Amino acid sequence: MEFILALQSALLGDPVAKLDEEARSNLRNPPHEPLDITNPIICHLISTYYALEHSSQSTYKCIHSSTACTFPGTDEMPSFYRIERMIAEYTGVESITHDMCLTHVLLITGPFADLDHCPVCNKHWYDQIKLQASRGHNKVAWKFHTIPAGPQLQALYHDHNSAKCM
Ligand SMILES: [Zn+2]
Repeated sequence: MEFILALQSALLGDPVAKLDEEARSNLRNPPHEPLDITNPIICHLISTYYALEHSSQSTYKCIHSSTACTFPGTDEMPSFYRIERMIAEYTGVESITHDMCLTHVLLITGPFADLDHCPVCNKHWYDQIKLQASRGHNKVAWKFHTIPAGPQLQALYHDHNSAKCM
């Protein structure tokens, strides 16, 4: 019931939403023009990033190095992290990270946020060794990534074809 009540009064700026000012601004004022990325190296690396969906970052690094050798003198060769940030900036779509139970049952949010253990499996939320070593300051838990629906829908509307397919 606490979750239902929290959802009924939810606002974009709620801390639990973990949306920064830029993300909230993008949701309220979505771009209406399709993306126009003219730099062929950026296009190549974005395509590479998506093609390597289930591969490691080192695979991206190898292709990045190969591209740099093949096209010497290229000014901008974004790293894995930088290309990921560029995609987020172009599309407005970013994952939001939440702490979660070690057994992957619950997210540590809403009415559970103030508990120190999972009410389902009774395990501690946080790595107890790191928590004790930091005297209760370093709360390390498993991470769960969510991708909010709003920015995804807005990104699909940027492009005529994807909007039509939707
Ligand atoms: Zn649990």
